[in-house]
Amino acid sequence: MAARPTPYLDDLNPAQREAVEALEGPVLMLAGAGTGKTKALTTRMVHLLNTNTARPNEILAVTFTNKAAREMKMRVGRMMGEAVEGMPWLGTFHSICVKLLRRHAELVELKSNFTILDTDDQLRLLKQLVAAANIDDKRWPARMLAGIIDQWKNRAWTPDQVPAAEASAYDGKGVALYTQYQTRLRELNAVDFGDLLLHMETIFQTHDDVLEQYRRWFRYILVDEYQDTNVAQYLWLRLLAGGHRNICCVGDDDQSIYGWRGAEVGNILRFEKDFPGATVVRLEQNYRSTPHILAAASGVIAGNKDRLGKELWTQAEEGEKVRLIGHWDGDEEARWVGEEIEAMQRGTRGMQPMSLDHMAILVRASHQMRAFEDRFLTIGMPYRVIGGPRFYERMEIRDAMAYFRLVVSPADDLAFERVVNTPKRGLGDKAQQKIQVTARQNGVSLVEGAALLLEEKGLTGKGASELGKLLEGLRRWGRLVGDKDVSHVELAEMVLDESDYTEMWQLDKTPEAPGRLENLKELVKALEGFENLQGFLEHVSLIMDNESEEAGEKVSIMTLHAAKGLEFPAVFLPGWEDGLFPSQRSMDESGVKGLEEERRLAYVGITRAEEVCTISFAGNRRVYGQWQSQMPSRFIDELPEDHVEVLTPPGLYGGGYGAAGGGLGSIESRVAEANVYNSPGWKRMQARSQQRPMSQPQEARDMVIDAQAVSAHEMGERVFHQKFGYGAIIGIEGDKLEIDFEKAGVKKVVARFVTGADD
Ligand code: ATP
Ligand code: MG
Repeated sequence: MAARPTPYLDDLNPAQREAVEALEGPVLMLAGAGTGKTKALTTRMVHLLNTNTARPNEILAVTFTNKAAREMKMRVGRMMGEAVEGMPWLGTFHSICVKLLRRHAELVELKSNFTILDTDDQLRLLKQLVAAANIDDKRWPARMLAGIIDQWKNRAWTPDQVPAAEASAYDGKGVALYTQYQTRLRELNAVDFGDLLLHMETIFQTHDDVLEQYRRWFRYILVDEYQDTNVAQYLWLRLLAGGHRNICCVGDDDQSIYGWRGAEVGNILRFEKDFPGATVVRLEQNYRSTPHILAAASGVIAGNKDRLGKELWTQAEEGEKVRLIGHWDGDEEARWVGEEIEAMQRGTRGMQPMSLDHMAILVRASHQMRAFEDRFLTIGMPYRVIGGPRFYERMEIRDAMAYFRLVVSPADDLAFERVVNTPKRGLGDKAQQKIQVTARQNGVSLVEGAALLLEEKGLTGKGASELGKLLEGLRRWGRLVGDKDVSHVELAEMVLDESDYTEMWQLDKTPEAPGRLENLKELVKALEGFENLQGFLEHVSLIMDNESEEAGEKVSIMTLHAAKGLEFPAVFLPGWEDGLFPSQRSMDESGVKGLEEERRLAYVGITRAEEVCTISFAGNRRVYGQWQSQMPSRFIDELPEDHVEVLTPPGLYGGGYGAAGGGLGSIESRVAEANVYNSPGWKRMQARSQQRPMSQPQEARDMVIDAQAVSAHEMGERVFHQKFGYGAIIGIEGDKLEIDFEKAGVKKVVARFVTGADD
């Protein structure tokens, strides 16, 4: 057949072309963000097809998310036009393994119609096993066991392969329970997520014929985001590619952000060992971001010791510096971002008007989304949440809201059904049916029905006593609604604590649990903006009503983890504060491993931006009704100064940047500003900084975030802090001061909120 033209190759640089045209043998493309790895991988697939090197079904391509798989499919389709019949195997490890396992289920004693358990089912099963083994679930929660088993599966260990070093896991009973769990799954004809890969691997290892079949079948393997594969995934790939060695992996060690889920960056280093003679391609030209953005990202990631190291350059026009702005608190930050987005949409600073589709807010923790969602709903800004439900749709938020609804209106049967056995109270389907029947027969609500059932002794045992406790609680909390001495915020906390709902997540050892607890705190925080519980419930039901998916432009909100591989002309990175980003957990850990992973997340975040990148932080956040002063993230100190412009919050210097004007939003913000910036501490700070020429942004930066202003302080100096009052400096560490306050005791605070007492 005559060679088809290859116009798509013209869109590539020489290094990319090398990776695309080296069709046979192992290829490793190791390169920084935005250098066109994914583009090259996609083009490689097109080239394989176009040159008739492979038929569609002979290509196996693995992406990290289903969304990425869809996108790649679309691009290949577009590049190939009508020419391609059939589609390559394209999907995540999980989606591909499900298909394979269905074909070969019997080889691991399953039927092909096996069910895939979700984490709830998985946990229920483990709980039964834990109970049967007479283990104290309080001390050794089943969730902990679930987490351990997951990790083992990520490492590709079947029960008999778990190494001796792990023998002490879960009070020494981990391995035995893992064995029982796998047996039980088989009896149920079920698998969990980890099994999808593990079973396929077992099959490949024990059935040469099957492995050979797939090696013949998948003659070309392509893997994106290779740095985030775990050991099980890596071994699986190695088995499949073992014969023909036609495997092309692309990744960036600086973007490895799933270590907490078992991903191992070391897989990249192993590649050249396992596939000797591999073509290793390095890409250095970045096509995504402006030089300032790139320099800022490179500056931050340079702080990591454990990296392969690489240079990036770009031909893009200089563009704007990375913008940095400090806010008084989280709500102020959300308000400012909202106004800024409106301004960009209209066209600002000589820039063309920008579509909302081209803007994204990337947060470290999903609970941060709440403030933005609330704000956007208030100002009618269309938005979408990517990679997860919106805040008020999250499971734990819906659960908590159901409790609140029940406290305000005990006849809310739907709410009762949702929480009666959450946390588990030993009230299974049977018990719940009894409650339903009693309620129906007596023509009363479920809460009343439940009370009647208990009176009639229609329930016994643990279920009965737990139900009694719940009903008693509901009555007690109900009486406190509207009570002058107990605020609705306190009441909400009380409900979540006394119902044991909070505890349920505290005991939870899955990786999602800390995030869920944060979301619950955030929910309580949201309550503070309302007069009472009813008002808040109305607000949320209106929000939920508004959720119909309308077409049109929308701002995207997502976590940094979900933003992997994506790009946007304008990116907002809020909440750069120690304890939030980097996360408290990574800071508490000994060693730098966790912190380095956080730094890679910062790198991923900044490198999503094409033209405008805005980093922000707040000086204060409310946690459980308590104001907490926040330290700007240590990553902010690592941003190279030459590439950063510091913006001043609106109002601080008499209006100024970002004061968009017009609309209810800005009136509100002015009022709030007036309150905030009238505080004595802020005024002092303002007075001091106005002695400097404000036309030089770097000066503002000194004032807002840098240690320069701090060095003016000395040990023993008497100072004033706007929240804690007067005190003496007993420690200085960069831009953080340890102060012995006269009223508040010893605290660490950010220097920018402190002024000399005699200023
Ligand atoms: P990440 O590490 O973030 O996943 P990546 O290396 O996969 O990034 P791509 O998403 O493939 O990078 O490419 C980044 C941007 O650069 C895309 O908009 C892409 O279309 C563009 N691009 C890639 N290669 C070239 C090229 N040779 N010429 C022009 N534009 C390119
Ligand atoms: Mg990519």
